[in-house]
Amino acid sequence: MANPILSLRGVTKRFGGLVAVNAMDFDVAEREVVGLLGPNGSGKSTTLNLVSGALPLTAGNVTLWGSQISGLPAQTITRKGVSRTFQLVRLLPSMNVRENVVAGAVFGHRRRWGREAHDHAEQLLERVGLGGKGDLSVGQLTYIDTKRVELARTLASDPKVLLLDEWLAGLNPTELQIGITLIKSLRDEGRTIILVEHVMDAIRSLCDRCVVMAAGTKIAEGTPTDVLSDKEVIRAYLGDDD
Ligand code: ADP
Ligand code: MG
Repeated sequence: MANPILSLRGVTKRFGGLVAVNAMDFDVAEREVVGLLGPNGSGKSTTLNLVSGALPLTAGNVTLWGSQISGLPAQTITRKGVSRTFQLVRLLPSMNVRENVVAGAVFGHRRRWGREAHDHAEQLLERVGLGGKGDLSVGQLTYIDTKRVELARTLASDPKVLLLDEWLAGLNPTELQIGITLIKSLRDEGRTIILVEHVMDAIRSLCDRCVVMAAGTKIAEGTPTDVLSDKEVIRAYLGDDD
């Protein structure tokens, strides 16, 4: 791929004797939405942790616009423009909704402080469908609204590459449509996204390309239609019991 925004080469993570991520190689182009798929335990969240700097790599490297980011502290990686959401939403319970979003701006790619951070947070809350809810305590929110706050907080750092870890998981069918529309709007404004996802509708309608993992290893890469009809991918999802 010419001029990828993000590249993983030989990215490997061992936890003791377990190879959770094994020599992963893939590129992400600017404005591309890449789905990272695979059964539970296949290493998707760990891969995002390695890219975002939450965990150190055992081997390999990650580059952003050709410069190495692996090995840098997580906050530095965020400041360079890579931000993520977590599979289990992590909001700060002592802060209200707006303050949680502002917290994302402070360490971001483009740092904002004071009034500017406040106003930007209000815009982002509007953007994710939480207009007027900035003063609520996070404990008062429904589940989908906590996900919205987390997304707004991640956007507050102005990420060049957005990593979404099963952001749609646990939503009911109505909320799922709202969530897909929201991610689609991020895609349409030209963001680069790695989407860890299980929801097939979302994968088909959002992803330009998919990378499929099983037991830490990349087993397929291609368009959603190609990978979802790939025999090896189907076998990995159904479990290989023969
Ligand atoms: P996925 O997100 O695809 O479900 P994970 O990346 O969470 O998979 O996990 C991949 C494998 O690594 C699993 O076997 C998991 O139990 C293991 N694992 C993940 N994080 C840790 C950790 N911090 N310590 C030990 N093992 C871990
Ligand atoms: Mg996971």
